[in-house]
Amino acid sequence: MKRTIIILAFAALTIGVGACNNTTNKNAQETAKPKGKYYCTMHPEVTSEKPGTCSKCGMDLAERDTTGK
Ligand SMILES: [Zn+2]
Repeated sequence: MKRTIIILAFAALTIGVGACNNTTNKNAQETAKPKGKYYCTMHPEVTSEKPGTCSKCGMDLAERDTTGK
């Protein structure tokens, strides 16, 4: 009987953690998703709507491939 309770508790914990992880991953993906048309290949988080250079390394920003491969 005690063993069943432990298994149920463990299952609940796993499901709870799993649901929590899913939410975290979803949020992380949304925040990490670059918005600008141009981005630094070294720093994908650095984006711009216009051509320019990276604010972190000064590299020319690359144009995002919008063809949707
Ligand atoms: Zn950069």
